[in-house]
Amino acid sequence: MLVDSHCHLDFPELRADLPGVLSRMGDNGVTHALTISTTLETWPAVREVAGASANLWCSAGVHPDERRDDREATLEDLLAMAGDDKVVAIGETGLDYFRVEGDTGWQRERFRTHIRAARKCAKPLVIHTRNAAEDTIRIMREEGAAEAGGVMHCFTETWEVAEAAIAEGFHISFSGIVTFKNAVALKEVARRVPLDRMLVETDSPYLAPVPHRGKPNQPAFVRHVAEEIARLRGIDLEEVARRTTENFFRLFRHARPA
Ligand SMILES: [Zn+2]
Ligand SMILES: [Zn+2]
Repeated sequence: MLVDSHCHLDFPELRADLPGVLSRMGDNGVTHALTISTTLETWPAVREVAGASANLWCSAGVHPDERRDDREATLEDLLAMAGDDKVVAIGETGLDYFRVEGDTGWQRERFRTHIRAARKCAKPLVIHTRNAAEDTIRIMREEGAAEAGGVMHCFTETWEVAEAAIAEGFHISFSGIVTFKNAVALKEVARRVPLDRMLVETDSPYLAPVPHRGKPNQPAFVRHVAEEIARLRGIDLEEVARRTTENFFRLFRHARPA
């Protein structure tokens, strides 16, 4: 039993064949998945996909790469979406200084709004951070993100950043990147993160793990991520599956296993 803690099932690559995606999950022991919101406009589609199966849930939020000057998500927008029973998390939110150039103040404001929403509705955060670890951790502390808890998704930062996030009560989620041969430092982080703070994900349709690297990704492939972590830690796949699944349902407590 494995859970894909972060995927984008509303993206056309996956949505076009949702029954196939679900059946390949079943074939690989991937019992549940959390599909992640990235814009206000596509949230209804995310919610609809989550409604297709009792084994799916969704988040509510706007991705830090989605620049919008005309219609920024307000605290009220986020809380309205978060009131839905299928919504078990707020995000994905955070900071991404890699993809966005120029002034990034709007990203930090948006991130703060998401943290406030998560605290208010008592649902955990899904945090995306890229080239912005220092500001991400600082804002988490300033806004009291520890009260909501959550996960640093698709983690690619250093052990020091993982430690700081864990100290704030957060979980660390590994994606297919940990299977890449050149991800030497990340493999070391995956050896060190406490097993009770670890999640696994695909971030599909992106970032397919080895041996599917370069091809479209799907939730069934989270099995390869878990296998690599088991190999790195010298433990059984079953143990990685059991611990990460327990962590998922403890963290996202509004998700009821079916
Ligand atoms: Zn992300
Ligand atoms: Zn994502």
